[in-house]
Amino acid sequence: MQGDCIFCRIIRGEIPSKKVFENEHVVAVEDINPQAPVHILILPKKHLSTSLEITEEDAVLLCWVFLAANEIARNKGVADKGYRIVMNCNEEGGQVIFHLHFHLLAGRHMLWPPG
Ligand code: 5GP
Ligand code: ZN
Repeated sequence: MQGDCIFCRIIRGEIPSKKVFENEHVVAVEDINPQAPVHILILPKKHLSTSLEITEEDAVLLCWVFLAANEIARNKGVADKGYRIVMNCNEEGGQVIFHLHFHLLAGRHMLWPPG
């Protein structure tokens, strides 16, 4: 349910998190179960359950996600070496938390294809 979801609660500060970035549009926090030396979750403040709910109205919001990723990657010192952004949608995509979010993974060589 919107507002009650775990990421909405993290965004509002009701659940503790290690915040690495915030502006009017997005919050970014360390993932609680990191899959790489750098594993940041970029959370749009607007609750959208999955990427399927994105509409034209959200075009600018998505740009803010990637601007945040650029700043975080530079701050973490991984921009030049490289990083991966992952967005999981629905069950077979591996989505567990139904608030649109983007994983920024870095600090090791990423595999392709992903599992
Ligand atoms: P998904 O599989 O939905 O794309 O990713 C959900 C991510 O949220 C997982 O990587 C998981 O480790 C992370 N996560 C789940 N609960 C919490 C939490 O309470 N705090 C933080 N920081 N990350 C969480
Ligand atoms: Zn939410």
